[in-house]
Amino acid sequence: MQYKSLFDNQPDPALVVDKFNVIKLANKKASALFGFRTPEMMEGHFFLRLFSVNETARVKKTLVGLKRDAPVCVEDVSYKDELGVMHHLDLHLTATFDPILASDLVLVTVQIHKLDLEDGVNKNSLLAILNNLDASVVTYNRDGVCTFANDGFLKVNNKHYEEVVGRRRESWMSYEMAVKEEAKSAKVLISGLSSSDEMELSINRSHDSRYVISRFPIIGKNSSVPSGTGELITDVTRQRVQEEQLTLALNAFRLSRDAIVMTNDQNKIISVNDAFVRITGYSESEVLGNDPRLLASHRHDHHFYKRMWDSINQNNHWEGEIWNRRKSGEIYPEWLSISKIVDEIKDNIHYIAVFTDITQKKQTEDEIENLAFYDVLTGLANRYLLADRVAKSVQADLRSSATSALVYFDLDHFKKVNDTMGHSVGDKLLQEVAIRMKRLIREKDTLSRLGGDEFVLFMPDIDPNDIEARLHALVSQLNQPYTILDTEVTVSASFGVAVSPVDGGSYESLLRHADMAMYKAKEDGRNSVCFFNRKLEMKAIKKIKIDNELRYAIDAQELRLVFQPQLMLSKESVVGCECLLRWKSRVLGEVSPAEFIPVAEKSGLINSIGKWVLQQAVSKTKELLQINPEIKMAVNISASQLRSNDFLSSLLEICSDYEVPACNIELEVTESMLMEKADSTMKLLKSLADHGFHMAIDDFGTGYSSLAYLNWMPVSAIKIDREFVQDIHQNEKHRKVCVSIIRLARSLDIKTVAEGVESHEQLRILQQEGCDMIQGYHYSKPLSGSQMLLFCRESAELELKERGV
Ligand code: C2E
Ligand code: CA
Ligand code: CA
Repeated sequence: MQYKSLFDNQPDPALVVDKFNVIKLANKKASALFGFRTPEMMEGHFFLRLFSVNETARVKKTLVGLKRDAPVCVEDVSYKDELGVMHHLDLHLTATFDPILASDLVLVTVQIHKLDLEDGVNKNSLLAILNNLDASVVTYNRDGVCTFANDGFLKVNNKHYEEVVGRRRESWMSYEMAVKEEAKSAKVLISGLSSSDEMELSINRSHDSRYVISRFPIIGKNSSVPSGTGELITDVTRQRVQEEQLTLALNAFRLSRDAIVMTNDQNKIISVNDAFVRITGYSESEVLGNDPRLLASHRHDHHFYKRMWDSINQNNHWEGEIWNRRKSGEIYPEWLSISKIVDEIKDNIHYIAVFTDITQKKQTEDEIENLAFYDVLTGLANRYLLADRVAKSVQADLRSSATSALVYFDLDHFKKVNDTMGHSVGDKLLQEVAIRMKRLIREKDTLSRLGGDEFVLFMPDIDPNDIEARLHALVSQLNQPYTILDTEVTVSASFGVAVSPVDGGSYESLLRHADMAMYKAKEDGRNSVCFFNRKLEMKAIKKIKIDNELRYAIDAQELRLVFQPQLMLSKESVVGCECLLRWKSRVLGEVSPAEFIPVAEKSGLINSIGKWVLQQAVSKTKELLQINPEIKMAVNISASQLRSNDFLSSLLEICSDYEVPACNIELEVTESMLMEKADSTMKLLKSLADHGFHMAIDDFGTGYSSLAYLNWMPVSAIKIDREFVQDIHQNEKHRKVCVSIIRLARSLDIKTVAEGVESHEQLRILQQEGCDMIQGYHYSKPLSGSQMLLFCRESAELELKERGV
């Protein structure tokens, strides 16, 4: 038993064989080597059957010649185990006599060749390694028959062991391919050298995979000739995809038009691309290891950077416009996006900053914005920007119940500045006005110029009670004299205000209503502020109706003239009359000329109406001349009538048609008409005077009150405006105006007519101050044509009576 345990624990495989070659005893090493689960299972098996036919003969021959106490070694016996692995064994044979069994026995100890030994010892672990390899391993013998394939190979080819081992390549690949592959193996067999190549294969898969195949010769211990070939096949698909992506990424990084900066967790630069170098002017070596802060322009405060880093830390991203500084010192805008890259596997952080130089883009953007939203002359917002801001704010007002004010204003008599001082002064004045107004407005207000001398100030979110005070500040600032090109200029402006939301819920309605209010301010005598109210809107609507209806007035015979007598104060007799137009519209009823004349002037209809008036007036003069050959018919003339080329010729024609001398016609024009286009008006007035027509200046005192022009104008009468006459007995100032007008006129040999005399009191003062003529309700209201004839006749008779004729 002692010997048994010695035997069992032999380091080498060992067997005891009897004279019939039957295995009597085996140790564990031996059973493992020869593929038996236990040593006992080996017992009873024929020893010689363990080997292939070729080897059996050699071993048998040795056994037969074996002598007691003369051990023999049978060298290099090949043995192929059940997995097809070839082992090379030296069998040491020792013949002994067993006294118990009284029989000859042979002790066989097996020495496995060094390589085989390890192989034999670690066969299982080797198999485990091979089967767990993330690659395919396959071996072939010299005939191209597969001798081994690991699990990886079987899996990739979707085959069982038996379907591969002991078979040729055609069993799992196409014939053509098998031929090619075998040729490659043959090369390895012949040369004895390894080779490898890469190929794309689609093996039972929808997509192609790339494999690297390494072929190597299998060379036995005692042989220089390969017994076969082995192949190690590795799937490199993923690797190749990654490599490709990496190359792409590298190229994208290097060639990108955007600058790219990579920094580490300390925010130190570790890599920059070509675009970075181009945009910043720094070379790669100058910035590596530096903080990107080196580019800072110092245009942003620390709050800006704090917000940026908060966003990067919270959202792993920040993107925005930032000003940086190039190496040259130049500051430029860039669009920057910073991403934080957290690699959890490697536990590190990187930052990638990508930026584009947007200098150019910003310039064009600014230019476009400037052109699109700002007025070129003053730099103020234009109507588009205004509309946009007002619309947004008005919507917000509706939600928040706040109020906003839209103020429309234009300069009074700006046209005169342009005409008399030139456009460059006009432009400069507009710029100055813009500068002054801008100083007084709040930051959230929008001051805009709509064109010409029209401005709009929009004040969002304002207390309605503050509007008036703010506007008065603007008015008084605006009224201060301006010095432009060494000339002192004073201007005033008329302001119209519409308040959101009461006066309108949209930009359009607010603007329209503020515009109406501004017109009202102008009517009220300019340089004033007027708030919109619904009455103004009614008035505007009425204007439109008037405009429509007036077109039919002449043909529908809705127009007629009335005549208001003018009286010579010294003689208290009728010396003339002013004809005044009346319109009774079948739709609108009686409409005052004060209302419809301005509309007709605007639409141009005044020319045909004016002609009709002249005709009627001259025809009536003809009748009046029968009674009083010295009577003068005063006719109101509009500016646009004077501007029409045929005014003089058609007036002459009418007078000759009715045989009325020019000296019996007096044309009433206003001061502003005389100022307008002064030269051509002058010429016309001169030739009218040359033809014998009289000229009177209407509404004197309300316009420029620049009296210098009276010196060289062919004026025969001045009509003192009713505004001054009205309260001449109560208002000392107005009385003085009247007096100075009368004195001035007399010094120039011009007659004065006081308009709108309603009371005896007024009459008395005018008489006292030396006024020549009066016109007004006190004496007579405007009369119809027949009434006027009658009035004239009575006056003539009275005069005759007084003269005692
Ligand atoms: P105007 O030329 O100043 O005419 C005088 C206006 O004062 C007339 O108003 C007349 O009716 C009114 N009036 C006369 N005496 C008195 C008075 O004692 N008290 C008061 N409160 N008013 C008095 P009317 O007829 O309504 O004309 C208004 C304006 O319409 C005229 O002002 C004139 O500018 C214009 N107009 C009237 N007829 C014509 C015309 O045929 N052609 C043109 N182009 N304009 C005309
Ligand atoms: Ca008049
Ligand atoms: Ca008048």
